[in-house]
Amino acid sequence: MPHNLKGKFINLEYINKNMSRGKGKLMIAYKFRAYPTPEQEKKLHEIFATEAKIYNEMIKKANEMNTHDLKTVEKTLRQIIHDLESLWKGKIYSMVIYPIEEKLLYNLKGLARLKKKGKKVGSLKPKEKFTFLFYRHHGFRLDIDGVELSKLGKIKVLFHRPIEGKIKGVGIKLDKDNKWYVYIVSEITPKPLPKTGKVVAIDWGIEKLLTTSDGIAIQNPLILDKLEERIKRLQKALSRKKKGSKNYEKTRVRLAKLYKYAKNLINDYLHKVTTWLVKNYDVIYVENIRVEKLIQTNKAKKLRRHILQANYFKFLELLEYKAKLYGKQVIKVSPKNTSKKCSRCGYVNQKLSLNDRIFKCPKCGLEIDRDYNAALNILNAGLGQPKAPVEGKPLLYISFSEGVYSKFPG
Ligand SMILES: [Zn+2]
Repeated sequence: MPHNLKGKFINLEYINKNMSRGKGKLMIAYKFRAYPTPEQEKKLHEIFATEAKIYNEMIKKANEMNTHDLKTVEKTLRQIIHDLESLWKGKIYSMVIYPIEEKLLYNLKGLARLKKKGKKVGSLKPKEKFTFLFYRHHGFRLDIDGVELSKLGKIKVLFHRPIEGKIKGVGIKLDKDNKWYVYIVSEITPKPLPKTGKVVAIDWGIEKLLTTSDGIAIQNPLILDKLEERIKRLQKALSRKKKGSKNYEKTRVRLAKLYKYAKNLINDYLHKVTTWLVKNYDVIYVENIRVEKLIQTNKAKKLRRHILQANYFKFLELLEYKAKLYGKQVIKVSPKNTSKKCSRCGYVNQKLSLNDRIFKCPKCGLEIDRDYNAALNILNAGLGQPKAPVEGKPLLYISFSEGVYSKFPG
């Protein structure tokens, strides 16, 4: 791969939106472990607390205003930053205050969008404290072994991989497991990969993470399932401890570490799968599924968790990003009847249930793997013409460990 995208790719959407960028360029964020001194930690906690104070004042005001005119809200929120100057002036670098307002505005816009769709939405809740600080364009300087941040001094950083592109911003974050991280946001230029002439459609699933229209199935690692017992035990232990006590903190951090371990494993897997897809195919058709909808309609807890952990959004985000970066295309098609339709004759089998793993067509007699049938339907919908299924050929099944430790086909 021309770019080093392995490992941490993060979505800082509200920051991304407010950053200037060259035409056709893309933003990427690298994550590195950071080691602030005890004094710097103390300062950072003070800044986080102040940020929360300002944020909470803004929420109060925004709720009072009760207006849909976000332009007016934005103006008022900006004014609050000035009104509360005594809280931060001289102590906090002024440019890191504005992202607070942007974040709130971003959240308000999200709420307004949901409301418009007729969803019931609550109001934004105040924050106890922030855990993230972002320096955009100014106020930072990178060194070989650390980063210098205005009002904080030089913070030690372990740069374990090279940074590509033009550096546009630096963030510092305290993760739930009490470890510090520095984010380096940089602007990169797309580097198209050679065309392969291949087109594919993907069915996203629970049992199999995905099934392609050319008959490849990739195992869903179901990582959280494997950790379920340990997670449950820690959650139970946590509920018995007094909030804020030393023991509570210890258990909370252990739980956070476990979640992080699972998240990293899943993300790493999704990186490998998406890289394989953009390398091997020029056009990738996916179903435009709404995960919220799936969660609402499937009351079963287990299923719900599987869908969540299958991390469809993360997958799409990575896939779309990499497609842009490497000059490939991701096209979303309507999910209508992709599971229930026969990919050979078009008959819609309304009787198909979630338990039927094999699709059997009562009209033309086709019998194929249910997910493979769905992938073919997605491809047909995308291409606008039917492609005959390959019958009698078993799916090429790639298990989780192979996917992670060896290679995908192609
Ligand atoms: Zn049929």
